[in-house]
Amino acid sequence: MISSRVKLLSSSSTLKITALTKKLKKEGKDVVNFAAGEPDFDTPSFIKEKAKLAIDKGLTKYTPSAGTNEIREAICRKLKEDNNIPCESSNIIVTSGAKYAIFASMVTFLDKGEEVLIPSPFWVSYPEMAKLCGAKVKVVNAKARDNFKLSVDSLARAISKKTKLLVLNYPSNPTGATYSENELKAIYDVVKDKNIIVLSDEIYEILSYDGAKHVSFASIGDAHKFTVTINGFSKSFSMTGWRLGYLEAASNFIEAISKVIDHTTSCASSVSQAAGLAAIQDKKWPQTMREEFENRRNLLFNGLSSLKKIKPIKPSGTFYMFCDIKKSGLNSVEFSSQLLDKQLVSTIPADSFGAEGYIRLSFATSIQDIEKGIERIKSFSLGL
Ligand code: PMP
Ligand code: GLU
Repeated sequence: MISSRVKLLSSSSTLKITALTKKLKKEGKDVVNFAAGEPDFDTPSFIKEKAKLAIDKGLTKYTPSAGTNEIREAICRKLKEDNNIPCESSNIIVTSGAKYAIFASMVTFLDKGEEVLIPSPFWVSYPEMAKLCGAKVKVVNAKARDNFKLSVDSLARAISKKTKLLVLNYPSNPTGATYSENELKAIYDVVKDKNIIVLSDEIYEILSYDGAKHVSFASIGDAHKFTVTINGFSKSFSMTGWRLGYLEAASNFIEAISKVIDHTTSCASSVSQAAGLAAIQDKKWPQTMREEFENRRNLLFNGLSSLKKIKPIKPSGTFYMFCDIKKSGLNSVEFSSQLLDKQLVSTIPADSFGAEGYIRLSFATSIQDIEKGIERIKSFSLGL
């Protein structure tokens, strides 16, 4: 009954473990949630108010399928000012979450048997979406000794005649690694003139630490011609449940992706778009959240750095911390499940990110819980 494409899919470990953690908490268990893939902040009230107003004003009908003119213009201004991307508002499509922007792009570009290069460690959904499109996934290992960044040599070696798409994601879920302008230029030099589309998922852009400035791949050279930039509201404005994301690309790409949107989701939620319009014009709130996450990153990193069998890797962005657990003698699934059973600390085993020997901790949780979690991991580590 089930299609051969769907039979090939794995379920999402991030969504599964996050749901299990929420269920245990609801049952009254004192779980420290280091699994969460979403900011723990409430959506700011200035955004919620605009959504309520939109409902009252009757903005409850289909919008143009690429999004309202107002939000596309506001996104375009943001991408020009903050990201130096040479765009027009007609280059933007607003989608039901960034996840759908990625999927709609992959469906638009990938034919059966074409290769998608995905650097590992990767976010769980990229390979599965590529498989759904019938494409062949080629994982390119970004090594720990290269700070989990794709080396240009490995990239050049991985490219073949069948390569159609390269996925970049920085700051990276799950490692928090990010690229400097020079590193992006080096990647650009390898892929330009090769007829490869770059899908650059920059959804964690706002969460860049240590004063680093996020640089968009589409702003390098003529990369805009062959890049689809993905971004959204889930991580920058704590709006995961509103399902609002967007993509930016050259006009010929937009024309093709639009057809997929027309025949699948029709448009993103009208109420969410009204909320998103208020959000995107505010630069302060995301910065306040970033500062809080940077403090929590430091707290978690310092708290774990003296352990013998667990080695935290300081992330340059996102709210995830990768930890090397190879010295524990357990594999990542064993480690994660024993930590949950014995100490009620939930984490994501990194085998599903293509990185056995690691776990992912999310610090999108309170300072109090981070402190509690550090103590529990210390006790767990002593018993290993
Ligand atoms: N890209 C990455 C790397 C993510 O971690 C997420 C979060 N699930 C998404 C895209 C999708 O975000 P959303 O669909 O909530 O906008
Ligand atoms: N991006 C988040 C995570 O990695 C949310 C869950 C998901 O969509 O995978 O945990």
